[in-house]
Amino acid sequence: MKLIILGAPGSGKGTMATVLRDSYGITHISTGDIFRANIKEETPLGKEAKKYIDAGQLVPDEITISMVEDRLKQDDCKVGYLLDGFPRTIAQAEKLDEMLKANNTAIDAVIRVDVPNEVIMGRVVNRRVCTSCGESYNVVTRPTKVEGVCDVCGKEVVQRDDDKPETVEQRLITYEKNTKPLIDFYEKKGILIAADNSKDPKAAFEQASAALSKLGFQKIQ
Ligand code: ADP
Ligand code: ZN
Repeated sequence: MKLIILGAPGSGKGTMATVLRDSYGITHISTGDIFRANIKEETPLGKEAKKYIDAGQLVPDEITISMVEDRLKQDDCKVGYLLDGFPRTIAQAEKLDEMLKANNTAIDAVIRVDVPNEVIMGRVVNRRVCTSCGESYNVVTRPTKVEGVCDVCGKEVVQRDDDKPETVEQRLITYEKNTKPLIDFYEKKGILIAADNSKDPKAAFEQASAALSKLGFQKIQ
């Protein structure tokens, strides 16, 4: 199964992605996580990407597309995968189609994570993430047991540089302009699944998994 998860910054798509990964046994590919890992390691890719990410802008398509192309060639993608944060532009989506077509395959479904705009800002500025395993927390709704320490792996939990209010605003503008058109793009292909994540993340997941089940995809756990 090949999935895309689509949603605004702060829609909770990252959290939902990890649940989907575990429930369906597929590989989670987050372009944001790959960029952050490169920034941490201070690789050339990381240094280049950081300029855009800290400004709430998109990393240029050429860089992002070739990074994803390489990632999809890795062995762990054979079991199926979930793309989180990619595609983010129509050009990326078209390129992805092309890549998959060349291998006689296609995306099975696109999960659209819906959250009203008012809710988003509060979620993002309260978000904290683990610098090591990527687990996501919220200082109000889901704090770590020990402040600043990841419940899962024990490493440091911090606020992302791009989760500061000024940058979040720009990220939302970028999302509206570049990424929202993808909803139409996939709706036209008839592969869009909606998941209302304005309240209970469990309910959002159940909504998505019911739709996936109708398509013939069953949970492994
Ligand atoms: P969020 O969805 O919460 O904004 P992500 O972790 O998915 O966060 O992405 C963080 C940042 O990484 C984005 O704001 C953008 O600058 C960059 N980025 C991630 N994926 C892409 C992509 N597919 N194309 C261009 N830039 C990307
Ligand atoms: Zn962790």
